[in-house]
Amino acid sequence: MKTLKIAIQKSGRLNEKSVEILKNCGLTFENYKSSLISTVTNFPLEILFLRDDDIPEYVQDGIADLGIVGENVIVEAGADVCYLQKLGFGKCTLKIAVQSTSNITELAQLNGKAIATSYPVILEKYLKANNVDAQIRNISGSVEIGPGLGLSDAIFDIVSTGGTLKSNGLKPFKDVMNSEAVLICNKELEFNAEVRELVQRIQSVLRAKATKYV
Ligand code: ATP
Ligand code: ZN
Repeated sequence: MKTLKIAIQKSGRLNEKSVEILKNCGLTFENYKSSLISTVTNFPLEILFLRDDDIPEYVQDGIADLGIVGENVIVEAGADVCYLQKLGFGKCTLKIAVQSTSNITELAQLNGKAIATSYPVILEKYLKANNVDAQIRNISGSVEIGPGLGLSDAIFDIVSTGGTLKSNGLKPFKDVMNSEAVLICNKELEFNAEVRELVQRIQSVLRAKATKYV
């Protein structure tokens, strides 16, 4: 029997829920401390604790067999992986936002404008699909300060509550993509017996959770 490797986020918004769902599947393992690999003692599985951005490519390339990561990160990476199951946590929306004082009401008004983002791939696809010719400024973090500094006319970023937008003098303009954490696997492993077993266990954990609150 092949020992599978599943990659989850080492620390950050997805870490706790990823560990929780695996534990609720009946898997016994030590949580991340300093070692980046933890061995599951009662299932042929090893857990790799990684930065979320690395997970899609690792799964695509077979360095990890499975992964838990946000859909936004998978699409941005352009990774060719198999989607096994949406997991119901890490929900967020990627939005274009403009300055609160802006009178932009139509997408076409973004023509010729600069948009700051750390998600250039998703944004480019969206702009292309909507025939908007804007300049994409790729920056790795704190994109919200762009418009205030005159660096960009708009931003494209993850928005959950809108509080960060507001405190930076911005308002949401267009929702582009909804995202949540998903279980993915390498394309060659979709029908692997252990992968199927894990998917079934995760699905029954999700079903139990859904009925608990009805
Ligand atoms: P890492 O150090 O692993 O690269 P990170 O800083 O890129 O971490 P987090 O902020 O922990 O990532 O977010 C991980 C994922 O959580 C995001 O890619 C997204 O799918 C999801 N998410 C849900 N809500 C939010 C939010 N409000 N802001 C950012 N990400 C969110
Ligand atoms: Zn990241």
